[in-house]
Order: sequence, then structure tokens, then C-alpha cells
Amino acid sequence: MKYYIQTLGCAMNYSDSERVAALLEKMGYDRTSVAEETDLYIFNTCSIRQKGEDRVFGYLKNIIEWKKKNPRLLVGLTGCMVRRTSSKNSEKKDQDELIKKLKPLDFTFRITEAQKLGEVLEEVRPGLEIPELKEAGLSDYLRIRPKYTSSFQAYVPIQIGCDKYCTYCIVPYARGREKSRPMEEILAECKTLVENGCKEITLGGQNVNAYGKSVFDKQSGKFGQNEDPFITLLREVDKLKALGLKRLRFTSPHPRHFTDELIELHTQLETLVNHIHLPVQAGDDAILKKMNRQYTVDEYRRIWKKIKKVLPGGSFTTDIIVGFCGETEQQFEGTRRLYEEIEWDMAYLARYSPRRGTTSFAAWEDDVSREEKARRWHVLNEVLERCSIRYNESLIGKTLEVLVEKYNEETGECEGKSRENIVVQFPGNPDMIGELVESKITKALTWSVKGAEVGI
Ligand code: SF4
Repeated sequence: MKYYIQTLGCAMNYSDSERVAALLEKMGYDRTSVAEETDLYIFNTCSIRQKGEDRVFGYLKNIIEWKKKNPRLLVGLTGCMVRRTSSKNSEKKDQDELIKKLKPLDFTFRITEAQKLGEVLEEVRPGLEIPELKEAGLSDYLRIRPKYTSSFQAYVPIQIGCDKYCTYCIVPYARGREKSRPMEEILAECKTLVENGCKEITLGGQNVNAYGKSVFDKQSGKFGQNEDPFITLLREVDKLKALGLKRLRFTSPHPRHFTDELIELHTQLETLVNHIHLPVQAGDDAILKKMNRQYTVDEYRRIWKKIKKVLPGGSFTTDIIVGFCGETEQQFEGTRRLYEEIEWDMAYLARYSPRRGTTSFAAWEDDVSREEKARRWHVLNEVLERCSIRYNESLIGKTLEVLVEKYNEETGECEGKSRENIVVQFPGNPDMIGELVESKITKALTWSVKGAEVGI
């Protein structure tokens, strides 16, 4: 039996898919990269924006045709769109709303209940022989050892859920309250990865620098009272350099927990890269308050000034939402001016899209027109392009260390990311994939740079 997983959304979803793949292989399924020939099609969905959900609905339309050709095909959904683990054979009252709504769908499972996948498959297809998985650790989905897709880079989740309740965000409802993984479990996963050749680890969580600080974490008594558990974790993972770890990243932090100590740590730990991604979302205090972001523009600015001082050559990136409920032209101008002042090297710009189940959906009208959101997005995008190319030009003549991720046969170029998280392309060969190569930057493009190979 073959399985195919279609993943949408953030790095956390891709990491979750690696765990689902590991479970399926324990059940005897084999991965296929040809979607049309699979027996089991799983969507790992994202519902942060309407676009993500629309893509799932689009894919499901194709699947109606495949199901006609292959009536044995089973289709399941997980990720942020799912609220209940259920199948079309579950009692109506227990079914996820999506099963009632989407015809080709056979089952759904909450990602935190991935270990129930076998039960759901048996429920939807009685007689299907799924081996019982009795291994210790499978009851907690974060303890399932993932089927990593890369041997030299890995995303290691350190926390699930979120307690911040930004008013536009579905994550706290989809993934639940914030809980951190025990430090020893994370360190064991990182150590095994590095021993197997992993050079770059990204520690991930929805609110990553709040690691060990939630109500559940405090109740657990596993995290010290007088230290910042996130700082301790970074220090501990950095020690894996002795075994071959070269780079340590984390995503996505929240400004509220971005302390001076965390900023300074970037100059102390050899593996911690000189790239900081810190979502700002808006450049106006009233909008930040309405979003429940829990900081002011001035507080964000203070963090940025400190980062600039401590990491002068590093890169600094952000996320911004335009057209949030009630955002006036003047408030948007605040965001634009903040961009001109901070000059983030890269930003992920989103147009506000109301999500059912969030506070902003229930409380306020989505009153900035689609055209106006598009205009504001383009205005910011123009500033972003200017800042991005300016930063990339500042790299010309410098030699960057690149972790090579792929090789393009047509151009003869390797492509990878520098410690600053800049995409670098340079002439190379396929044997360089997975290696750290030095490249002298010769040309700046808007979203990447070109270089010459210097050495390994
Ligand atoms: S910090 Fe805010 S935007 Fe990020 S996951 Fe939590 S609620 Fe969502």
C-alpha cells in the first residue's frame, strides 16, 4: 500500500508530516511521489489564510476524479483545518464538520492525535489490517521519531500550541494551549540528528522563545524558576558543535520574550546564526493592541536597535499584515514609515483574511476593501524590494558560508542559504549538496545573490 502526503503551510506542518510519514511506514505503507497512484492521500493543511483552505478545496476537486478510477483510495485531512479526529463512519455527532462538507474526504485527525491514525483507518475501511503499534512514546505525537526528509537539515519542534491569542490567528484554537517538550527529549533528538550528519537544526514553535514559560510548563515543574529555559536550551544545543553541528536557528519568536540576553547570546554561541526573524505585524499601536500583540511600536523598535548594535552584519526579517479590521490610511502609513526606518532585509507580507473561529472574525467587520488591501500590499512590497536589494548589495565582495540544498543541472549552479538566511547561487556540482561551501558574492538580485565558489 502506498501513501502520499501533501503539506501546506509552515515549517511546523512539514515537520508534522515527517512524523505522520514515520507512523504510516510503521503500519506498512510505502511512500510514493506520484499522487495519482497512491492508496492513501493525506493533506496536512494550513488555515492561517483563506488561500490555504482554498487550495485544499481545489485539490479535493481533482481527487473526486481519481476516486472514480480507484475506489479503494482513502483521503484524509489533518493540520490546522481539523478540529476532530473522526471518519465518515463515525457517528454524525462525532464527525468533524469538514467530513460533512467535503464529499471525497474519508477521515480527519487532529495532528496531536496522529497516533490514532490506525484506529481511524480501520474505522473507515473495516477489514483493513493495520498492525498495532505498541512502542512506547507513540502516545505523544512529538515523541514519534520523524522520517526526516533531509539528512543535513532538520526542524525540531520544541513546543506546541500558543497562548498569545492574537485576535486574527486560528493557531491557539487549532493547536491548543502552549506546552513545551521536555528539554532532555529535545536534546536527545538533536544529538541523534547530529550524530547522523545533520549540520543545521531549526528549533521550532509557534511562540518559540516562550519555551518553558506557559502555565502548563510552570505546573510541570520541569523548568527552573530562575533561568530562561529557552536560553538554557540554546546553550545546550550549541554544545553539539563538538559532534558536528554547524548552525542553529529558531522560529518564530515573539517580541514580548525577545530579551537582551537572547540578543547577546547570538554573539556567544558559535552555532547560532546571525539572522533574526521577528514578526512585527503592524506599525501602529492601536492596531497592535487590536491584534492583541502585547507590545508597542516603541518596544519593538528598542529590540531592533539592540539587535543592530549587537549583530551589525546580520539580517533582520519580519511578518506584516496589511488591511486589518478598521486599519485607516494613517495607521497603514505608520507601518510603511516603520519599514522605511527599520529597513528589514526581508518580510512576509500578508493581506488580512478573516478566519472563522477567531476573535477578529467575531468582533469586527473586515472593512478594508480587497482593492485597498492590494494597494497597501504593493506599497509595502515596493519598500521591501528596495530594502532587500540594498542588503544583498551590501554582501558583494564578502565570502559567505553556504549550506548547499540543491543543484540545478540546466544552469550548473548550486543553491543554498548563508548563515544570514540569504539564498546564494554559485557554479558547483551535485556532490556539494549537504556540504558547507564558501562563496564570494559577485552580484545582488532582489531575492538572492550570485557568487563564485571559493572552497569547502
Ligand atoms: S503568537 Fe499570535 S500569530 Fe503567532 S501563533 Fe500565537 S496567536 Fe498566532
